[in-house]
Amino acid sequence: MKKTPFIDKKTAEEIDAAYPTPFYVYDEAGIIQNVENIKSAFAWNKGFKEYFAVKATPNPFILKLLKEHGLGVDCSSLTELMLSKAAGFNGDDIMFSSNETPAEDYVLAQELGAIINLDDITHIDYFDKLCGLNETMSIRYNPGGVFTVSNGIMDNPQDAKYGMTADQIYEAVKIMMSRGVKHFGIHSFLVSNTVTNDYYPMLAAKLFELAADIHTKLGADISFINLSGGVGIPYHPDQEPNDIFVIGDEVRKVYDEILGSAGMGDVAIYTEMGRYVLGPYGALVTRAIHEKHIYKEYIGVDACAVNLMRPAIYGSYHHITVLGKEDAPCTDTYDIVGGLCENNDKFAIDRKLPKIERGDYLYIHDAGAHGFSMGYNYNGKLRSAEILVHPDKSFELIRRAETPQDYLATFDFSDFTF
Ligand SMILES: *Cc1c(COP(=O)(O)O)cnc(C)c1O
Repeated sequence: MKKTPFIDKKTAEEIDAAYPTPFYVYDEAGIIQNVENIKSAFAWNKGFKEYFAVKATPNPFILKLLKEHGLGVDCSSLTELMLSKAAGFNGDDIMFSSNETPAEDYVLAQELGAIINLDDITHIDYFDKLCGLNETMSIRYNPGGVFTVSNGIMDNPQDAKYGMTADQIYEAVKIMMSRGVKHFGIHSFLVSNTVTNDYYPMLAAKLFELAADIHTKLGADISFINLSGGVGIPYHPDQEPNDIFVIGDEVRKVYDEILGSAGMGDVAIYTEMGRYVLGPYGALVTRAIHEKHIYKEYIGVDACAVNLMRPAIYGSYHHITVLGKEDAPCTDTYDIVGGLCENNDKFAIDRKLPKIERGDYLYIHDAGAHGFSMGYNYNGKLRSAEILVHPDKSFELIRRAETPQDYLATFDFSDFTF
């Protein structure tokens, strides 16, 4: 599918004049449309709720927007809980799916009334002593082995640190029932970034069967199944995007088949998507500031891997459009590089693009999830600004860029002179 930026060169210039590059932009209209599609795809399920994975895009302005459109949040740390609280979330609008959880994180989650998703059987005692078990508790399942979806998409749950074994799941339910827990949720996250419609239906079938068996054998009330995240997006224009309506409908079929026939037709479906909700609706905009002609042709930009880490650590493809040259022929081959003293700091390698001049804006697509949020400060580089582009194309600063003072703020300089 052809990739089209949601801002043009003129808008980039206007934003740049107020908040210089590099900066992130987010497309409010696109986000809203996508959220509405997700809700309608699962509207057949009365209790359906998408808990947006905060770690993907931890910005309270974005979270507030999602709240206005009926989403909950999935948090995994103290500060994600604090951001969510600030954005107005509480109670069962918060899913707390953490692992190796510090006590203070559990305490805040409990204070906010969040649904607690326990990653391990040993966390039952840990959480019980700390906060007391709730009437509704969620548990995270790891089936082990290899989980194969389709088209060679698979992962190895056996090597993943998350969740409990099948035996432990039954044991956990028994223990918690004996301590007064009345309702259970089952959660599992097996494969990331699945660009196929098959992942959720296959995962759902596995979890529904487990839920029906637990219900039969232990008499436990299963109130929800959490399919977690992992629905992917096509980073490359050659990839076929997922169809959320097909996914919703296929999950409905296995739901009717397995839960419906087990008399469990009131189980709610929850999801915790991050990438699918926000990924395509955010972009990193950076300027070409240098060109270099050695053994290869380089364009040096003012963003670097601290602003978007995925290409450097996963070798991920992110499509790039040179703003104002959307329809120009791709006559040149470049490595597009940032300024870290690390040779993996390349947004693109041997990429065919229109001829780039210094000063051109490069729009790096699909950075709306796991983009800004994975930022860091290596080489003393700073995090960029984040800007929300409203449906009428006006724009709003939703996080200012870091300054050198922010970078230096955690040192005590009282014995130094500047
Ligand atoms: C990361 C994560 C998600 C979101 O994953 P996406 O790939 O962004 O959909 C959801 N739930 C949990 C527990 C996670 O760790």
